[in-house]
Amino acid sequence: MTHRKPKPRLLSRRTAMVCTSSGLIATAFGVVGFGRDPGPVRTYAREEGESAPPPETSPARGQAWMPDVNRRPLEVNFTPGGIREMRGLVLHVQEGENSLHDRFSDPAVECSSHFWVSQAGEIEQYVSAHDRAWAQGAGNPSWLSVETSGFASRPLTARQVDAVARIYAWGMAQHGWPLEPASTPLGLGFGVHSMGGRDWGGHACPGPLRSAQTGAILGAVRTRYPR
Ligand SMILES: [Zn+2]
Repeated sequence: MTHRKPKPRLLSRRTAMVCTSSGLIATAFGVVGFGRDPGPVRTYAREEGESAPPPETSPARGQAWMPDVNRRPLEVNFTPGGIREMRGLVLHVQEGENSLHDRFSDPAVECSSHFWVSQAGEIEQYVSAHDRAWAQGAGNPSWLSVETSGFASRPLTARQVDAVARIYAWGMAQHGWPLEPASTPLGLGFGVHSMGGRDWGGHACPGPLRSAQTGAILGAVRTRYPR
């Protein structure tokens, strides 16, 4: 599941449950406009008040969009140019089924992920690898994110394992991700949402079953997609 990005508590309003289905965070506060940019909500307008970004720490940037996947760019719910360093990929569980494109296209939900993988192994990319998706709170500027269809109570399908491995192999080649698991927000490699703890929204996502499959995914990268 994705977690909405932190934001100032201005003009807040309660919205329906977003970005979680675990009940850990049952409500969210949406911010409705700052008196500028009255047109369609563009995420960068919301963050103009942020402090200047730190110096770019990422290496030479690789591809923004993964080839041979279903490219479905969002119009809202991401921060253009917001990836400030490239630590790796974070695994999430959707707690639902079917494409997340429509949900992430709703400005009210204020969450998104870079990728989504169906149980049949189809991949959709919603946000450029150069842009910040809103999936894991304080980890958003440093990590790309992949949502996986289904529920934490069920493991990833073999096709999902393979599809996430495809994404990871692409990230290794394009963005320098190491072929290793990450266990903390300061690590590098393939991590899970829950490793970020409270700063990442305090989610149990993607749950023990899918977290335990990260090794199989990295194994699939190693054997099926050698560099
Ligand atoms: Zn999650």
